[in-house]
Amino acid sequence: MAVACTGESEVQTEPPQGAPTVEEMAGELGTDVVRALARGYHPDTSTDIAVIPMPGNTVVRWSGEGLGSDAADPRTTHPTPWDYHQRVPIVFYAPGRIAAGRLEGPVDITAIPRTLGAQAGLAFGSGQVLLDHGTFLDAPPKAIVTVVYDGGGWNLLELWPEAWPFLRQVMDRGLLYTNATIGSAPAVTTAIHANIGTGVYPATHGLAEITGRRPDGSVGDLYFEEETDPRLLLVDTLGDAWDRENGNRAWVGMIGYEAWHLGMMSRGARAPGGDRDVAVLWRDEPGLGEFFVNEELYELPDYLPGEDDLRERLRGLDAEDGAVDGFWRGWDLEDPKVVPATPAFVEHQGEALLEMIGREPIGQDDVTDFLHVELKPTDFGGHLWNMVAPEEEVVLRAQDDLLRSLVSALDRKLGRGEWVLAYTADHGQTPKPETTGGVRIHPDILGRRIDEYFGAGIVQKVTPSGLFMRRDAMEDVGITLEAVARFVATYRYGDGLPADVDRSAIPPAELNRRVFAGALPATYLADLDDGAIEGLGPGAHAEGDLTSPVPVPR
Ligand SMILES: [Zn+2]
Repeated sequence: MAVACTGESEVQTEPPQGAPTVEEMAGELGTDVVRALARGYHPDTSTDIAVIPMPGNTVVRWSGEGLGSDAADPRTTHPTPWDYHQRVPIVFYAPGRIAAGRLEGPVDITAIPRTLGAQAGLAFGSGQVLLDHGTFLDAPPKAIVTVVYDGGGWNLLELWPEAWPFLRQVMDRGLLYTNATIGSAPAVTTAIHANIGTGVYPATHGLAEITGRRPDGSVGDLYFEEETDPRLLLVDTLGDAWDRENGNRAWVGMIGYEAWHLGMMSRGARAPGGDRDVAVLWRDEPGLGEFFVNEELYELPDYLPGEDDLRERLRGLDAEDGAVDGFWRGWDLEDPKVVPATPAFVEHQGEALLEMIGREPIGQDDVTDFLHVELKPTDFGGHLWNMVAPEEEVVLRAQDDLLRSLVSALDRKLGRGEWVLAYTADHGQTPKPETTGGVRIHPDILGRRIDEYFGAGIVQKVTPSGLFMRRDAMEDVGITLEAVARFVATYRYGDGLPADVDRSAIPPAELNRRVFAGALPATYLADLDDGAIEGLGPGAHAEGDLTSPVPVPR
């Protein structure tokens, strides 16, 4: 029976007539995309239904302002399994030790920690090693430095080819994997940084989202905001394993923004036998923000630059456009939600990083040390003013300058060829939908439409990666995840417009346009095996090909 009476309201349990089945949606998504989603699924923390916007569309997180009008909000999100979010470079660089080269076989970033562990002398995890085992056998590197440009995937580099001359030089002189991906979807910072640190996917390491299901059933930050607590990261990172192997004599540390990046380094004192590794994170209060970490689990150095230094750099930036007025290209430099997107912030973090390299005992004994660097401004700016904005080129160039300073500081301290740089990114970025013919989808309106259609309050929260559902409430009235996923597949652009939008100004074909390429319930992703995934085939979208070699920007 499709419609049941429960008290006052009529409950609908069936999807709309003609809605595609889950299997049909998986077939349209194809092998590569569904594999990425299955690797990214963990039953404890994931969404209950993964939603995949059509390529080019974006689920907005920040506001619904401008939906259906020309005054569209530039802010986008990036959790999708599509190639523009999934494809990133991987480079290993140690002049004189690692031979320059370019390889185009498909690899992903989970091979990085195993590869770096092998250089230090530790067999970590299983799977592919991306460097010759013998590279450093005569003497292990003094330090291994992993640098991640947040949101620095190939599509950002391609868009601003003049903004990364030093990184290009690193790619030319290092071993570059051009056909690499981040390994899993959703393409969200927390999940992917943990891929880089643990060498396994969210299906195993547990951190499937930034905002995910927590043990008490709530949906929130999986690092518990300022607790910066990695207790939901279920496995060792390379840093954890290496530190333990060496009785915590190894120096392990990082600089990055917020807690979401800790998974690339370590669980600190939360790891069995672990100690307080050095972690320099950033929060956007008080004032313009400050370096911080939970010092029960990690160590925060006391020599870091303070707010006065940041203000000084912001004043320099402010003056660049000819007027010292508190604004840079129209952006308010007193706003802590703007500051981390600016080149002044790159310099501020850079000063902290160079201080760390100067003062910390990195590379000073016979145990290889591990430094991790996550540079947020490329991603922060991408969210704020969009990757296509000229500000983004300026920020990317600032990070490139910092990368150059980092390499020369380490060459001076440790000697050229005595240390290894591994470079990658945690995802690409979302171009403004206006530039690709895409549209914006508002998550809250989607959630409301689902509750209205099914006649029950079954949606807990909608995020850009999918739907968190009240599964008890669904069971009570007999609504399945599959029915909701099939409803999502029929959702049209017009269904998601706020009430005050003038629909007569929008062409009917646009209003009727399907906005999602598919929606896959947890129950489906949990049961998939390799054979079933292989059997799906290439799918219906060119952006779903994550394995064919791609041309690399010159
Ligand atoms: Zn990110």
